[in-house]
Amino acid sequence: MVGPPPSTWSVDASRRTAVEVAGGVWCLRLPLPWALIPHVNAYAVEQPDGGVMLVDCGGWGDESCWSALVGALRDVGIAPGDVRLLVLTHYHSDHMGTAARLAEESGCEILGHARHEHLTDALLRPGAIAAARRRRASREGVPEQRLGGYASVREEIEGILAPTLPDRTLAAGDRVGRWTVLETPGHAPSHISLHRPDDGVLIAGDLFGAAFTPYMDYGCSEDPLREYLDSLALVDELDATLALPGHGRPVSDPAAAIAAWRDGLESQCKAVLEAVHAGPAGAYEIACRARGRESMEDDRQGPSNLSDVLCHLRHLRASGRADRSTGAGGRFLYSAR
Ligand SMILES: [Zn+2]
Ligand SMILES: [Zn+2]
Repeated sequence: MVGPPPSTWSVDASRRTAVEVAGGVWCLRLPLPWALIPHVNAYAVEQPDGGVMLVDCGGWGDESCWSALVGALRDVGIAPGDVRLLVLTHYHSDHMGTAARLAEESGCEILGHARHEHLTDALLRPGAIAAARRRRASREGVPEQRLGGYASVREEIEGILAPTLPDRTLAAGDRVGRWTVLETPGHAPSHISLHRPDDGVLIAGDLFGAAFTPYMDYGCSEDPLREYLDSLALVDELDATLALPGHGRPVSDPAAAIAAWRDGLESQCKAVLEAVHAGPAGAYEIACRARGRESMEDDRQGPSNLSDVLCHLRHLRASGRADRSTGAGGRFLYSAR
């Protein structure tokens, strides 16, 4: 979820850049049409067999998104047909929107985690998922006039060219060339990271980056915040020398960034708990209290803010600090324990 879909999906393909950021690894910085997230990074990686592994491939929505990807590959001497493997760090539209086109033009194999239903359900059953999102938002106290934005599946339908299921699923410990797969859920259930033990490079996807910009998918995991904190602890143990994130610049001090993200997530959770202590309320009201009423009334961020706050509430309930009851009209009420 990166906000409501943009009014135009076209991008300026000339805004791409392509730079070698580690031995045999090029960062392709691809323009996005999203107001709040202007770029996403894909990584082109030389493989021992002479082919190219691409990690993520940018968003879709318009032919110009494809032009940006092909242009960035060509900038470093790679033709789409050279790509043998496409590895998806996770199933969010900005990371895999063009996957179907790339697979068609290159014949590449697509590798990703098996827990992709948080996104593919909305592509395969858009009507049912939109109705479920609407019901859920209503029960969490979203005002009637705002329900449309919270139920929308336009991000998935318009930001992804076609449903793209993995040809081969990846799990913890799998090897792809010189890279080891780590399961790092929290941002999304399907999230993986890739670690190259030879030189300590970590392709981190949206797990963390230089700037603290967290987001958690709600509804497909028991406790996404617990998963997120465990994933950060897992990659912290690697003592990575360089982290390559899904957005923004390479991170030269991964340990410091990981600590900042852990502390930031814990502070957000504390703010949600304080909002719960202000009196029983629905999640929408708690999000307004915790995040500042203005940010929730800005429709651009409301759905992603609510998803985050629901994940924090789930964590607080799982750890015995909050309760949920059902009030009038089936609305959920959260209270301090
Ligand atoms: Zn993401
Ligand atoms: Zn992203």
